[in-house]
Amino acid sequence: MKKNRVFHFFAFLSTATFLFSTSVLPQQIKISAHAKRLHQQAIVFDTHSDTPGNILDENFDIGIRNKTGHMDIPRMIEGGLDVQVFALWVAPKYIPDNAAKRALDMWDAAFQNIQKYPDKIAVAYTAADAEKIVGSGKIAIFFGVEGGHAIQNDLGLLRVFYQLGVRYMTLTWMNTNDWADASGDTARWGGLNEFGEKVVREMNRLGMIVDISHVSDDTFWDVMRVSKKPVIASHSCCRALANHFRNMSDDMLRALAKNGGVIGINYYAGYLDDKYEPAVDKIMKSAQPELDALEAKYPDHNAQYDREKEKIYDKYRSKYPKVSINRLIEHIDHAVKVAGIDHVGLGSDFDGISAPPAGLEDVTKLPRITQMLLDRGYTDEQIKKILGGNFLRVYREVIGE
Ligand SMILES: [Zn+2]
Repeated sequence: MKKNRVFHFFAFLSTATFLFSTSVLPQQIKISAHAKRLHQQAIVFDTHSDTPGNILDENFDIGIRNKTGHMDIPRMIEGGLDVQVFALWVAPKYIPDNAAKRALDMWDAAFQNIQKYPDKIAVAYTAADAEKIVGSGKIAIFFGVEGGHAIQNDLGLLRVFYQLGVRYMTLTWMNTNDWADASGDTARWGGLNEFGEKVVREMNRLGMIVDISHVSDDTFWDVMRVSKKPVIASHSCCRALANHFRNMSDDMLRALAKNGGVIGINYYAGYLDDKYEPAVDKIMKSAQPELDALEAKYPDHNAQYDREKEKIYDKYRSKYPKVSINRLIEHIDHAVKVAGIDHVGLGSDFDGISAPPAGLEDVTKLPRITQMLLDRGYTDEQIKKILGGNFLRVYREVIGE
């Protein structure tokens, strides 16, 4: 998802209100030697980041350590991240004629940036590729398309994306498209329409993974019926813990497990805790008089307007509640209990979310997940599955060697 592009990494951890009381505060988490070793040995595979948008629109360079964004090569190395899916997210404003071009522009920008650092990072096309790249000490990048409108209702374009290395497609974004209903929009088809079913079948045939994050419940159940291969939720959470339309119900988690698929747990505070977004809305309501005054002062929305608006937002952002990394671990734990240990992974949504949990401010903090799973009594083998083993299995099963 995309909210805004301003990230607040070091935002007032000590003074912030936590929506959930926590026994362990994030700043107190110590990484044991065992956790460090396990995290290094494991293939850590995250199925969703929006980094390509930063590369294309903000001249973001993944090769250097940046003060903005949630990941770049130096920080991925520090966080022990081995495999990352770069999502090519297409905003609905590019519909109908420029959606594919937008995805291609993003692919091109990300691909060129990756090619600048051949000794550190490479594009993977299969699970075996990813393992080889990681085995040689580099980071492996897969591509995914987020928002089925990117194919402009053309199976030929779907096949072109496959040739360019796109290995999953999120069937919808927040918007319902011409063939699939989204969870964040009104339903037009009651799920997938006939062409939507064709898209799923063609993805199965090509060896492109169907991603059901963002789709409506009806679309999910249609995909369960139509897909002959395991599917993924690349960046979703559990509705039993946070009743948000973007999250999956326990019934859906069980069906996903039966299908052989995997859910990558999203790190966004609003999906982890359903009290987060109403609390933020309430805070921003009190900012409205200031925003209205600004609007009256700069009706032409000039650069000064942008600067002053950002200042207002900064002031209020510091009052936003925090959701702890503990809450993320609870979602992982719940998904494991319902779907089973073979069906849960990581789907950060880094660089696409405005609020990661306190304690997981960027990719460098990933070893904390390993530590906290050990603290919960998970075995090394179980943790390796969650960190990446499960997604590698699905990639192998769907794409082939
Ligand atoms: Zn998304």
